[in-house]
Amino acid sequence: MISKELQPKLVEKQDIFPDILGQDSIKHHLKSTLICGRHVILVGPPGIGKTTLARDVANLLPNVKVNDCGFNCLPTKPLCPCCKAAKIHNKSLKAKTLSSAERFIRVQGSPDLAVEDLIGDIDPIKALKFGPLSIEAFTPGKIFKANNGVLFFDELNRCPEKLQNSLLQVLEEGKATIGSYDVDINVNFILIATMNPKDSSTERLSNVLLDRFDLLYMDYPEKVEIEKKIAYMKGVDLGIKFPDGLLGYCVSFIHELRANDNLEQKPSVRATLGLYERAQANAILHKRKTVTFGDIQEVIESVLAHRIKLKPSVKYLQDPTKFVSQEFENFKVKNPGFSSAKEKKGEVPG
Ligand SMILES: [Zn+2]
Repeated sequence: MISKELQPKLVEKQDIFPDILGQDSIKHHLKSTLICGRHVILVGPPGIGKTTLARDVANLLPNVKVNDCGFNCLPTKPLCPCCKAAKIHNKSLKAKTLSSAERFIRVQGSPDLAVEDLIGDIDPIKALKFGPLSIEAFTPGKIFKANNGVLFFDELNRCPEKLQNSLLQVLEEGKATIGSYDVDINVNFILIATMNPKDSSTERLSNVLLDRFDLLYMDYPEKVEIEKKIAYMKGVDLGIKFPDGLLGYCVSFIHELRANDNLEQKPSVRATLGLYERAQANAILHKRKTVTFGDIQEVIESVLAHRIKLKPSVKYLQDPTKFVSQEFENFKVKNPGFSSAKEKKGEVPG
């Protein structure tokens, strides 16, 4: 079981998910689900590090030697018919080593995703050559590629019902149906899915499917300080000094927008990264080596207006661009100082 491989790492004292800052409670709960090998859905808005967190889980896995059969069979535990037959006849198969990164398989949930993408497909030409029920005619899908690793299923609730049902069959019975074929799936993987509860273009997940998972609710970074660190860590550094106070000002404004009752969709962490990078770029265009308040003000609309959605009660009265610039003006009035004094200080002739 994968959880056995993970357990020694999971109980370590140090932070084993270093790419995610903060979110201590989520990290704790995630460790607890992994220890018992349960499947997880990370629920939360986009851009808060759900993918990174799942990748960090795979990074905890050591390299593993598998047979090069397309199903990642462990030499000691053959799963596919080829490897099973080879074991019976005492033949050894070509092996390969999977790194931790290769033990992470990503599936992007979308209305177009087909059961065949997930499970695999029968190749009609090979079926004619080898016979329709022969394993040679079957091309394994993502689930088999994730065997002995982490299957990351992004935006599970954007998948059609048919796909959700086949996933349920895999989780419940270890079986899947492709056309008129039943495919046995005795694969060993940890399934980490994500779901954005605010996405309106989604299918409802059935209660029986949800019953196969534990849900962890993730939210935006709790503190301004944490989000500032994320900007320094993940944002592109263009070699321009970004005064710490000014970055705090940007992040505080974004936190205030997130708390605004008129917003249906709030600005993500990518909005913070956008301000961080674009303000530096503006400083370069103005031939300065330090970001000023003006560099931020210039990009507020371009970075933020399309990243928010106003509630119906407001959106007929105001468009997002005007809303963002008005809110920024209000914020400026409430937090004086940066727009005048600090700007002059920040100006260093380039
Ligand atoms: Zn195999």
